[in-house]
Amino acid sequence: MATTGGWLGKLAGAAGEAKARATAEKKERLAAPRILRPGEVVGEYDASRLLMTTLGGEIRPLTHDDLAAFRQNVRTAQKRLSGGITARKTLDLSWKDDRDRAQSQIRQAVPASASNGRVRFVTGAGPDSKVSRHHVTVEFMSFGAAVSAGTKTPLQAANWLRKQPLKFDCDCERHTYWFRYVSTIGGFNAGRAETGFPKIRNPRLTGVGCKHVLRVMAEVESAGTVVLFLSKAITKARENDDGRATVRQTQRDAETQLAANKRPRNIMTTEDRRKSAAAARERRGLVRATASTPKPKKPTAATRRMAGGMNKAQLALLAKMGLSESQIAAIAAAGK
Ligand SMILES: [Zn+2]
Repeated sequence: MATTGGWLGKLAGAAGEAKARATAEKKERLAAPRILRPGEVVGEYDASRLLMTTLGGEIRPLTHDDLAAFRQNVRTAQKRLSGGITARKTLDLSWKDDRDRAQSQIRQAVPASASNGRVRFVTGAGPDSKVSRHHVTVEFMSFGAAVSAGTKTPLQAANWLRKQPLKFDCDCERHTYWFRYVSTIGGFNAGRAETGFPKIRNPRLTGVGCKHVLRVMAEVESAGTVVLFLSKAITKARENDDGRATVRQTQRDAETQLAANKRPRNIMTTEDRRKSAAAARERRGLVRATASTPKPKKPTAATRRMAGGMNKAQLALLAKMGLSESQIAAIAAAGK
């Protein structure tokens, strides 16, 4: 277990653990007394309930003006999230803090099992977490299309599938209290639907994924091991006439993958990728320019004589610009 820092644990118990956590969370949610329900957001709120909000920065009792602001925030979020979400869009719409935490704290994720397009990933947990691992569920909504696309090999189909719209869920508190409502109203929640408006934690409804979800999305976007895992599910579904497939990752395969993946993959938005590509182009350009520029010639004694009043640095500069001795001499003569 040294290779994973111990967080992976036994994959065999992962699905059971995820289900037990979901059941416990649902029970807790159903018993929660201070939920702002959808009917209340649209105006049926009774101020005697004395619910609180942090809209505006400080915690205070909720007013009917806040409800109007919440309704506007729902409309804005739904507009931003319209058309569903992909791995890339999840990264793009996330908070920088969450991306930074995904980069520094959640260094790896592995797919543990798949039931058709519904894949369970296991990730490590942050340093202050009560648990050692988290469960992120990703539902690849175009799985059926990838299975049926006879023109593509399983690998090609998997590579296409990972860029398509998906739904997700995580069992952590950040997803539960900040983002589950956002994913529910955006139509890409793959777990328990959340109807309670996050009036305290995220009343502006910004951001979209916790650090575990972001780590998984970075792997979905770029990891060859995820493509391979999806291609196995596609192959299996193609072999079954009803198009269904269950795939499990073995403990040994998961540990081998994690051990081979020493440096965490970068958590990058589209903008980060653009900047990184531009920097790489610039570096390549500099290398080419250095390789193709002839070494600047030192001016000969004859040029120096012809150049008259020009100093050494000026002559060197002209030579560096690729001018010949006679051109330099002409410039010097013109300046006399
Ligand atoms: Zn999470």
